[in-house]
Amino acid sequence: ATRASLPAFSGTGTTADGHRVPLLANVGSGKDARAAAVAGAEGIGLLRTEFCFLGRDTEPSVEEQVQAYGAVFEAFPGRKVVVRTLDAGADKPLPFLTDTSEPNPALGVRGFRTDRTSPGVLGRQLEAIAAAAGSHEADVWVMAPMISTAEEAADFAVQCTGAGLAIPGVMIEVPAAAVMAEAILSKVRFASLGTNDLTQYTMAADRQLGSLATLNDPWQPAVLQLIRRTVEGARAAEASAPDSATPGSKNVGVCGESAADPALAVVLAGLGVNTLSMTPRALASVGAVLASVTIAEARDLAALALAANTAAEARTSVRARLGILEDLG
Ligand code: PEP
Ligand code: MG
Repeated sequence: ATRASLPAFSGTGTTADGHRVPLLANVGSGKDARAAAVAGAEGIGLLRTEFCFLGRDTEPSVEEQVQAYGAVFEAFPGRKVVVRTLDAGADKPLPFLTDTSEPNPALGVRGFRTDRTSPGVLGRQLEAIAAAAGSHEADVWVMAPMISTAEEAADFAVQCTGAGLAIPGVMIEVPAAAVMAEAILSKVRFASLGTNDLTQYTMAADRQLGSLATLNDPWQPAVLQLIRRTVEGARAAEASAPDSATPGSKNVGVCGESAADPALAVVLAGLGVNTLSMTPRALASVGAVLASVTIAEARDLAALALAANTAAEARTSVRARLGILEDLG
């Protein structure tokens, strides 16, 4: 049966039985952040800082960056804002950082890897984030994109601590990082699954090629298994962390487009993901579908998706169980 009237989005992500899954927004500017606050986002789960760097021939000054990040923090006083450090390269080339002669840019020097080839840019960015955080009330978390190893995670955490940023994390968007999630999360406080790139790299299918869309699908069983493995790794790291007996202290979020698909969002919650970050226009539909299931039902739906042999079977069976017959996303 169709769900004729879905419960209204309340402004907090919660299952029918009160299990909290905060619904956050993906934004790429101060203007986006203000719109996300109006749409009811509980915070920002992904601030793409490229907005401050794109379309320029030179690195923005620390002061310019402080202003740009401050405008975002201002929209979410007292709320969580996850800042992603510069993700240049591949689909986001920058003239002063990217070597355009690389044969395979998606596998090249991108994201955190640019810290090796252009040392100093990341340090200045962390300095700017810390300065902006210091003059605003937002709860600022900082994460690095394209982390592949626990050594890289540890390196990033050290740089964050040096800049006075207390909550370092990493994006899990390379399959190796999902496999090694326990070791990685022993070095940082949180992880955010970037399912756009995680799907691209798991399936070896360019995310920009429409002709590969069937492969490039976050419902692919291999992708769902890597998400499950990431959550399990985080829980294991949490259990062995000397300082964190608190459950959920190694937060695992999702900030890829998959979190904006209401049926997949429920599966992600069932897999044990703690927060979901999405384009603001998806908040209401994701919030409504999440509120229609208990966490036990979400876990059953996650098991159903994991048992499927194909992405199409996973999607169809979960949607049928949820009564979603048309595309809400
Ligand atoms: C992702 O890869 O899923 C992600 C959120 O980052 P971006 O889309 O900016 O690469
Ligand atoms: Mg990415």
